[in-house]
Amino acid sequence: MARIFAVANQKGGVGKTTTAVNLSAALAAHGQRVLLVDLDPQGNATMGSGIDKRNLPVSVYHLLLGLRDLPEVRAYSESGAYAVLPANRDLAGAEVELVDLERRENRLKEALRAVDAEYDFVIIDCPPSLSMLTLNGLCAAHGVIIPMQCEYYALEGLSDLVNTIKQVHAKLNRDLRVIGLLRVMYDPRSTLAQQVSAQLEDHFGDKVFKAVIPRNIRLAEAPSHGMPGVVFDKSARGSQAYLAFAEEMIERAKNF
Ligand code: ADP
Ligand code: MG
Repeated sequence: MARIFAVANQKGGVGKTTTAVNLSAALAAHGQRVLLVDLDPQGNATMGSGIDKRNLPVSVYHLLLGLRDLPEVRAYSESGAYAVLPANRDLAGAEVELVDLERRENRLKEALRAVDAEYDFVIIDCPPSLSMLTLNGLCAAHGVIIPMQCEYYALEGLSDLVNTIKQVHAKLNRDLRVIGLLRVMYDPRSTLAQQVSAQLEDHFGDKVFKAVIPRNIRLAEAPSHGMPGVVFDKSARGSQAYLAFAEEMIERAKNF
């Protein structure tokens, strides 16, 4: 049975996509069978996996609207060695079109059932909002991974997200829980980053992943080469951190 994790944070630019892509590739590098779901109309996870979002005959949009089955939509990241449900701008329309459909928040969950036995991990890259698309991600998932920058306003947005997760847990998906907070783009020389990081550990205890992802230019460069950072430059500090994070996820997933 696949363990399904949504990478979510309603803020943009906090490292969701970088985390989803590199976690997928790092899990694959550790021998896991992985499916990455791109739920963001920006299609950054698709591009970062080396799949051209501009040439997609069908995408996750068609899957959510029930126009295609999962195998017809699925692509493969050669560089990352994992399967992808790709996205592009078409997906922006899904937000409105889903509203009229039955069980609209469960579309992804139902679609993923068909491939449950084929993967060890399904990683869902959510858009920067608490929208119907993110809701589909949260309803499909067993757990949420929350990437966070250790900066002054980091904790503010967190309570909205945690409240949404609580509501989804109460009303829509009893399986859902926060797996952990992942510190990303971390600068160990910044006193503020150290303070916020320590605060997170105080408040959230072992919900904070041990792995810390440093700010690392190689991770930012990799997408323009159509490769996950962990493949583009495996020895880079950021890549090593994502490989360690994947090991931690494999350990935590054993408790499911
Ligand atoms: P989100 O998906 O939350 O919008 P992204 O993963 O796209 O965030 O990251 C936002 C920007 O920050 C991108 O340009 C990405 O390359 C860069 N970035 C993400 N993580 C790191 C990191 N650890 N070090 C350096 N740059 C990073
Ligand atoms: Mg993104």
